[in-house]
Amino acid sequence: MKRRILAIILLVAYQTSTFSQTKQPIYKDKNAPVEARIDNLLSLMTLDEKIKQMNQWTYGKNANPNNIGDQMRAVSPLIGSLLYRSTNPEYRNQIQKKAMTESRLGIPIIFGFDAIHGYRTVFPIPLAQSCSWNTNLVKESCEISAKESWLSGLDWTFSPMLDVARDARWGRVAEGYGEDSYATSQYAIAAVEGYQGTNLANKYTIAACLKHYIGYSLSEGGRDYHYSDVSMQTLWETFMPPFEAGIKAGASTVMSGFNDITGVPASANHYTLTEVLKNKWGHDGFVISDWGSVRNLVEQGVAKDKKEAGMKSFLAGVEMDMVDNVYVDYLPELVAEGKVPMTAIDEAVRRILRVKMKLGLFENPYVDVVPEEKRYLLPEYLKAAEELASESMVLLKNEKETLPITSKYKSLAIIGPMVKDSINIMGSWEGKGQPKDVETIYEGLEKEFKDKATLNYALGCDFDGEDRNGFKDALEAARKSDAVIVFLGEKKHWSGENGSRSTIALPKIQEDLVVELLKAKKPIILMLSSGRPLELIRLNKIADAIVEIWQPGTKAGSAVAGILSGRHNPSGKLSITFPQTTGQIPIYYNMRQSARPKLGHYQDIPRDPLYWFGDGLSYTTYDYSDIKLSTTQIKKNEHLIAEVDVTNSGNRDGKETVLWFINDPVANISRPMKELQFFEKKLIKSGEKVTYRFEIDPMRDLSYVDSFGNKHLETGDYFVIVNDQKVKFEIVD
Ligand code: BGC
Repeated sequence: MKRRILAIILLVAYQTSTFSQTKQPIYKDKNAPVEARIDNLLSLMTLDEKIKQMNQWTYGKNANPNNIGDQMRAVSPLIGSLLYRSTNPEYRNQIQKKAMTESRLGIPIIFGFDAIHGYRTVFPIPLAQSCSWNTNLVKESCEISAKESWLSGLDWTFSPMLDVARDARWGRVAEGYGEDSYATSQYAIAAVEGYQGTNLANKYTIAACLKHYIGYSLSEGGRDYHYSDVSMQTLWETFMPPFEAGIKAGASTVMSGFNDITGVPASANHYTLTEVLKNKWGHDGFVISDWGSVRNLVEQGVAKDKKEAGMKSFLAGVEMDMVDNVYVDYLPELVAEGKVPMTAIDEAVRRILRVKMKLGLFENPYVDVVPEEKRYLLPEYLKAAEELASESMVLLKNEKETLPITSKYKSLAIIGPMVKDSINIMGSWEGKGQPKDVETIYEGLEKEFKDKATLNYALGCDFDGEDRNGFKDALEAARKSDAVIVFLGEKKHWSGENGSRSTIALPKIQEDLVVELLKAKKPIILMLSSGRPLELIRLNKIADAIVEIWQPGTKAGSAVAGILSGRHNPSGKLSITFPQTTGQIPIYYNMRQSARPKLGHYQDIPRDPLYWFGDGLSYTTYDYSDIKLSTTQIKKNEHLIAEVDVTNSGNRDGKETVLWFINDPVANISRPMKELQFFEKKLIKSGEKVTYRFEIDPMRDLSYVDSFGNKHLETGDYFVIVNDQKVKFEIVD
């Protein structure tokens, strides 16, 4: 209502101005207020034109030039959006031209695609990125992705994915930022700012889409698309904060998930889509369904047919229907029957038009056409890709300083299915990444160790299967080398969408290969490339050093080689816990205390996971001072400063991330044993001391949210925690 009144005032003001003397309709005037332009446009649109705006269309799976003509003819100039699979900006411009010139009102199409961790320059998978704790680099990767995307005809990416994930059997754990809600929120902000820039109407910026709203990662047993039982407490405490942060950062769009949230599927959930997203948080952009998730309401048993599915989804607050045409086919009847009010249609279309206006599409519907060599893989993009990849890698184990590879190793055995791979190393959702662009691990090592060490390569075995014929050559390579570096891992489709696995262990053949190589009695260095945490209980015992390199993307080779040689000092820390075994799932750092803390653990494995959230080593050493607090007692409206000095006591420069946790030991509802509330990564030169500072704002950092989304801040004791230090302070009335 308020918005309407404002629009009327703005319109009256506008009409009395000189601009309105032009003959063109108001909606075409970029100087008119956005809401006034939309009012004008809505008043001119037919119901059919409105409904087509709510439809996202897609064309065939390839952009083969022979098909382009036909496919382009098939695209209606009235559609709201196109899921654009081509990389050709001219083709986009031609389709857009149809919309601008062949439709009655000339409403531009918004072109979307999944650029999840890069478009053509492939960055590490998001799970890896979150282990870098470097939000600046993550933001930069999104800026680069936006540039490459925009120049390829896109206005919109279906990223970032904000599903906090604690079950590594779920393949989509690869696409998110790990197990923690606060960390995910910070990366959400970085990603939105990176994609959208400071003004969406600028060139090279694209709209972000927060997905999958909401609770999708709780799909039972990690089986993708399955039922998700999400309590209201968990919804508010764990899943909502990253979405709220992304909305506050200005994300234009949101995608509703496939999952059934405790009986009301995410794409038909009025509470999450309307009451929270639109009413409580004031989101003024639009929601798109996930691929077919409107139609899926039939499979999920909450709609008897597609028509009812469309009605439920639309009325719950999904404004755009991704690819399944349900809205186009059934909304006209639903409006005629009075089941869907025209006011709701207008409001939905208004949201879509608002995003298009903010993108500047009415004024600048076309993208620039530049040759591919000016568009993709520019030197600065590759530099950022290597930096982010190397900062994402996590040194998990390094017995007796096995790493880095120094001159003590004259020859290296380079073994495993990942060494020459250029496909799986990009991970799932590799955008338009191409294997030919990828610098393989082998190429990286050749460059890095040229004239320094002999490389003895052997495949050893494939990713899976039972063929042990390669073991012999691998053992021979190991025997004639000073150290054995084994590159194991997962194929890209083992994680990502529909990439669920019943075990997170590597296939037996890969573990057997390492056991075989032990016969050479040389140091064993394991380099693991995966889209999820792995079960390392057996390999951890026999490896001297382990690095989780994740799926690092285009610059895999240099990043990995730099970590091995010490050119890059490892600075990644896990954003997700590595359980001892698959059966230990779910295990995550911010669990609640059990009623009997010493009891109830699995009897056949150690109590703790193998590697906790936050674990990660460096080639240098850091000494932490005691935590200093500015005071030990504050009132609810006062701030408290916590500081810790970190000295780099080793002889290499390094980047260290301090993770600041809070614990509220007694509250009206139980609280996690610790909760991340702040983190900061800084470069510390060898011998230097740097102070890290966390300014605690009680309402922001110490309150908890209840199951209705209300925040509470209680008086009493709190602890601030860094590594194994825990310091008490108090909030008083
Ligand atoms: C995925 C989304 C993706 C969409 C469009 C769906 O299957 O769940 O994450 O954005 O497809 O490609």
